[in-house]
Order: sequence, then structure tokens, then C-alpha cells
Amino acid sequence: MKEIEIEIQKRGKILPGNVLKVNSFLNHQLDPVFLDKMADQWYNLFKNDNVTKIITIEASGIALAVLTGLKFKVPVIFAKKSESSNIGKTYKSLIYSYTRHQSFVINIEKEFLTSDDRVLIIDDFLANGSATLGMIDIINQANAHLVGVGIAIEKGFQEGGKILRDKKIRVESLAIIDSMDDEAKKIHFKEMEKVVD
Ligand code: 5GP
Repeated sequence: MKEIEIEIQKRGKILPGNVLKVNSFLNHQLDPVFLDKMADQWYNLFKNDNVTKIITIEASGIALAVLTGLKFKVPVIFAKKSESSNIGKTYKSLIYSYTRHQSFVINIEKEFLTSDDRVLIIDDFLANGSATLGMIDIINQANAHLVGVGIAIEKGFQEGGKILRDKKIRVESLAIIDSMDDEAKKIHFKEMEKVVD
């Protein structure tokens, strides 16, 4: 079993609605040593792709994205979920939040993303794909190039991974959950090749 799968089994809690709570290391309290290992894996997977920017979405993706940005030595942009007066002209996309059950607009300031950029998206979860598709929409508006998507935990029983892979987008998920059994408190993972040493 991979280390991330062991952590999820040990520390994850299954909530109603197919939501996995990993607040003890990823979504509230952060385990920097462990998250840094995830960043190492994405670095190894994408290091030959000339990544120039990393994009994530606030708030839970930021820690992972910053640690990954440190490896690539490139800027990290987090899409903002609200517009404030101190933000310039923005690219926008409408996304639906799986955990909040509401739609909202994400924003990235235009000056931070150009057509010369080669972008890696990093996020904590992939469920139905709305957050990732919103970030891809913004990358397309800027005519930037999407290198791929790095996800910590993909819920493989939801459609996001299939939607992205059907579009020939490279998705590198460090753990893919096949099923979660709320009553038995069991999480089953998809068998995957070990991605990196
Ligand atoms: P999607 O847009 O792919 O449907 O959902 C991805 C986003 O919703 C992630 O950025 C994450 O914040 C949140 N999310 C989706 N499923 C879960 C889950 O099971 N647990 C947690 N903690 N967040 C989730």
C-alpha cells in the first residue's frame, strides 16, 4: 500500500454524501512533512514538462501547491473565490462546489497568466471535476498551455477523472479511491503502479 493510502485509511473519516474528511493532515491541520512528499511525487512526474506556473484554488490546495512550486521554483497562483477591490482585471469561471453545494465564480488576475505559461494544476481532491474544469477554462482564456493535473486524492467512483482523461488531459492522482463504505468504515483503493521511487 502507498503511504498516502495508509494515511487515508488511518486518519480519514467517511462523511455522508461520499465526502472524505482528512482534516488531520490535509484540509485543516496540515502535515507539512507528509505534504512535502506529495509535492516530491508531482515534481518527479512533471519535471521534464517545463512547468512555468502552478495553479490551485483556495483554500485547501494552497499548501500543496506552494510546496510543489518550491520544487519547480515557479510562481503559484491560487484562484480566488471572491472578488475584492484590490484585484485587477480577472479571468473568471463558474464552478460548483461539491462540499458546499453551491456555485461560485473563481477569479485569477489577468497579469499573472500569459500565453507563454505552461501550467500545472494542483488540488487536494478530484470528485466531479468542476473545480479542475474551472481552472482549465481560465488557462484556456489566457491561451496558456495546460501541462497536467496533480491531485492528492481522486474519488474514482465520481466522474471527474474520466471527464478529464477523456479530454486527453494528463491527470496524476497520488491515491484513487474506488469505493468508500460508510457503514463498514472501509476505503478501497484502485490498484496503481507505484508512480515514483
Ligand atoms: P470537484 O470540483 O472535482 O467536484 O470537487 C473538488 C473540490 O471539492 C476539491 O477542491 C475539494 O476541495 C472538494 N472536495 C470534493 N470531494 C471532497 C471530499 O470527499 N472531501 C473533501 N475534504 N473535499 C472534497
